[in-house]
Amino acid sequence: MTDTRIGFGFDSHEFKPGVPLHIGGLKLDHPEGLAGHSDGDVLLHAITDALLGAVAAGDIGSFFPPGDPRWKNADSAIFLNLAMEELQNAGYRIVNIDTTLVLAAPKIAPIAGEMRARIADLLCIGIDRVSVKAKTPEGLSLDHVAQCHAVALVERVTDPDELKSMSAVIESQRQLEDVVEDLLSSVHGVPKKRIAPVYDTEDIT
Ligand code: MG
Repeated sequence: MTDTRIGFGFDSHEFKPGVPLHIGGLKLDHPEGLAGHSDGDVLLHAITDALLGAVAAGDIGSFFPPGDPRWKNADSAIFLNLAMEELQNAGYRIVNIDTTLVLAAPKIAPIAGEMRARIADLLCIGIDRVSVKAKTPEGLSLDHVAQCHAVALVERVTDPDELKSMSAVIESQRQLEDVVEDLLSSVHGVPKKRIAPVYDTEDIT
């Protein structure tokens, strides 16, 4: 019998004028963006927590502590990459991801396909394994907030060769992180260091 696990993630960010809007790895044309220490990508943050949760590896705030200048305006693809590495270290791969965004605007349905493609790309899985749904916050009086719920089903990988190839894919994506980290180091004068969990659940990402 296949060893499967499930993970759940939730995130919310407040809309703020004057910042770009990033959702699902896409930059969207909208008068307001989501406030956050990073790029505020509520969808990628919820997926990251779902993946980490599936292998009981902590949460996004435990790896990316609040106030760390390296993650100021960071591309949330970095957080997803870290979650994939944790998943692979635990010996699991993604079966599928399902998500629900809750926000008043912009309308997600017309761009959900593009978001699914981008997330599938970042996770190195087929687009048929990624679902992006959206609802308006009816009756919640939360029109100034974007929320996201995500679940991830994962299964144990038994073939060592497959684990090795997963590792290679994650490593190739990590080059993106190195580029960003180098940029941040040069801007903030912060020396490069390896990300390690500190198990502080506070999260302002
Ligand atoms: Mg967040």
